Amino acid sequence: MSIVYLGIGSNLGNREGNCKRALELIENKGILIKKKSSLYETAPWGIKDQPLFLNMVIAIETELNPKELLKVLQDLETEVGRGKSLKWGPRKIDLDILLYDNIVFHDDTLTIPHPLMHERDFVLRPLHEIAPDVQHPLLKLTAGRLLQKLQDRETSHGVS
Ligand code: ADP
Ligand code: MG
Repeated sequence: MSIVYLGIGSNLGNREGNCKRALELIENKGILIKKKSSLYETAPWGIKDQPLFLNMVIAIETELNPKELLKVLQDLETEVGRGKSLKWGPRKIDLDILLYDNIVFHDDTLTIPHPLMHERDFVLRPLHEIAPDVQHPLLKLTAGRLLQKLQDRETSHGVS
């Protein structure tokens, strides 16, 4: 069994409903959800001109390997996205593998740890809520330290 941290985000339609639906579908796949963070409302990252996101992080236990898990998550993204508005737009659900045990992996379709997780407040805050001491296997820092470093950087940018 592996412990995996997943990032969940939605900024379209019933955002809370979409996140909850994703949790249900994950459990329906026989994946055990061990911990759930609160929902955090956050400003969009990167492309700013889009609705606010709701984000959360969960810890799961799974026997799926990283590629199998990615496939399951991508199928779930399609399933949650399907049947609502057909109009193209920001995704109703985004499911990211943040950390997978202590694995470091990279290929065309999958990078673990998620390459931007340490830059993203909306990942680190909920991750810190459920797993303050979990280690980033490349940066060798805990979620708590990563969050503190990000906040220090943001504060110094604001002041200068
Ligand atoms: P982001 O989640 O960074 O905002 P997207 O969800 O649009 O961006 O990116 C989707 C692509 O990212 C997928 O096609 C997937 O193959 C790739 N990807 C690479 N690493 C990961 C990961 N750790 N978790 C989820 N998707 C990943
Ligand atoms: Mg994604």
